Amino acid sequence: MIIKPKFRGFICTTSHPVGCAHSVQEQINYVKRQKPIQGPKNVLVIGASTGYGLASRIVATFGSGASTLGVFLEKPASNGNTATAGWYNTAAFEAAATEAGYYAKSINGDAFSDQVKEQTIALIKEELGQIDLVVYSIAAPRRTHPVSGETFTSVIKPIGDSFTSKTVDMNSNEIVDVTLEPASEQEIRSTVAVMGGEDWERWIHLLKEADVLAPGATTISYSYIGPKITYPIYKEGTIGRAKDHLYTTSKEINKHIENINGRAFVAVNKALVTQASAAIPVVPLYLMLLARVLGKKGLDENCIEQMYRLLASRLYNTENSPNEDHLIRIDDYEMQNDVQAEVSALWEKVCIGEIDIVQDLEKYRKEFFKLFGFGFDDVHYEEDVKEDVSILSIKS
Ligand code: NAD
Repeated sequence: MIIKPKFRGFICTTSHPVGCAHSVQEQINYVKRQKPIQGPKNVLVIGASTGYGLASRIVATFGSGASTLGVFLEKPASNGNTATAGWYNTAAFEAAATEAGYYAKSINGDAFSDQVKEQTIALIKEELGQIDLVVYSIAAPRRTHPVSGETFTSVIKPIGDSFTSKTVDMNSNEIVDVTLEPASEQEIRSTVAVMGGEDWERWIHLLKEADVLAPGATTISYSYIGPKITYPIYKEGTIGRAKDHLYTTSKEINKHIENINGRAFVAVNKALVTQASAAIPVVPLYLMLLARVLGKKGLDENCIEQMYRLLASRLYNTENSPNEDHLIRIDDYEMQNDVQAEVSALWEKVCIGEIDIVQDLEKYRKEFFKLFGFGFDDVHYEEDVKEDVSILSIKS
């Protein structure tokens, strides 16, 4: 099959297996060039197939020599459709990890369900014994509650007032105005149910109950704060409310795992192009300007650089270990005053049509399509490739 990108809405509906493998290999190569980390040895990554979760898994394996178990929700190829990018990423990751002598197994299923949690616990008991790091990196549009059976759908909306801002229309490549109406109470509640901390807490409770959390185990989940420009749609919107809940939950989890000397953290990561962030209005335009400023200052990072820095310089660095508020700011470069001042100035100019962002847009689109394995110089996209790729260990 010759695979071309097919763009619909804010998603690419095709993925390229060779391109995804190339992207995973680039991330592995980056980690191998860094200093080894005296870090975790048995790691569970929930949301392990793309973005921050995949990068965390790669850093744990190739940076700290860990055995990893990955949980995610992806689709294999079927009926002439390609697999999802996360499927191809995992196939490539597992092959590389196994070849390098590391344990790497995966479970494809709904992480919100108790069935997948039980399956994961059984696999840990059989093959790893105990886990010393649990990374919770889910970004999902909906969640069915394992007890009530209610299905919640998350929305990205402001709270209280409507919000009008500039945004990029990825179909026409134009800067347009977007107005987002405020969320209802039910929509706020649903977004918190999907993206808040309840499921993370349930995972940790069940893992602890099953005695598969090692003494001193760490768990971490990811959040975002960002600048004032995006507050109405992020920090002060429905997703921000869910992230507040995630942080409050981290304190509950801390108490719950205190007696095994466990630690729970929330890391505030940098804004980056991922499948999840591409779906948030306004954010892609901010990301383009941010990349321009950080790039100029030599401070731009991708998921893999962020996750390496998180593990190497914060989570497992005894000289700079996180303090007792259990909130780790790895968005420090993004939030530097000089960076934000320049981004704000550019934002003003974009709003009055004073600057051209053709190149920024082009760069953003390139990064976006790379998430699906397209646009790598070394990959021959005219060649026929086998779309049906298997993951060595897959359980679903
Ligand atoms: P992503 O879309 O790249 O990854 C999401 C992961 O969740 C994938 O592995 C996917 O398979 C998995 N997933 C989704 N639904 C699932 C389900 N029901 N069961 C099992 N797995 C499921 O997203 P990302 O941007 O890497 O986001 C990960 C976390 O990082 C989120 O909490 C997000 O809010 C946070 N974060 C993202 C950014 C950013 O700019 N991208 C910045 C800071 C924090």
